[in-house]
Amino acid sequence: MFELPSLPYEKEVLEPVISKRTLDFHYGKHHQKYVNTLNDLIEGTEFEGASLEDIIKKSKGPTFNNAAQVWNHTFYWKCMDSASKESSPSDALAKAIKDQWGSLKDFQEEFSKSATSLFGSGWVWLVQKEDGSLAIFQGQNAENPMSEGHNPVLTCDVWEHAYYLDYQNARAEYVKKFWDVVNWDFVSAQFEKK
Ligand code: MN
Repeated sequence: MFELPSLPYEKEVLEPVISKRTLDFHYGKHHQKYVNTLNDLIEGTEFEGASLEDIIKKSKGPTFNNAAQVWNHTFYWKCMDSASKESSPSDALAKAIKDQWGSLKDFQEEFSKSATSLFGSGWVWLVQKEDGSLAIFQGQNAENPMSEGHNPVLTCDVWEHAYYLDYQNARAEYVKKFWDVVNWDFVSAQFEKK
């Protein structure tokens, strides 16, 4: 049985970028629902007892969607922390970003553009490809870059439920503020893990 992982901070910590009310629903209701549905779906199947990563790599349809949504949300919470906690990309990540996009600002603009232009629901990711280079990965719905063999480094949830209570339909505004709460210490550690 999978359980909803605890949040790495209190629900008001991301304010004013993301409100406690959004986390009450997004973490407390949506993330919890994906966990519950996944448990129901895998009961009595070959996936009972498998790791979340294995289920993501081997399943399709509703099982994949719910397993990936469980993983994606857990990763997304970790990608953020209080805006008052200053963090910046590690030297290694900063260099890789500079090699790929010229500057951190140029990368952020590209990532934001990708997050804003994604049609419908999905996730935008910074990934490290198998050759070690960085790329922006635009994923529809529950898509997870591990399915393509990429190492996830950073993600932004652009499903409406991630921002509607705080920004209504203004996704671009949410994405712009998202950078204030990115936890570069966690993100850099994902890059160096590879
Ligand atoms: Mn979400």
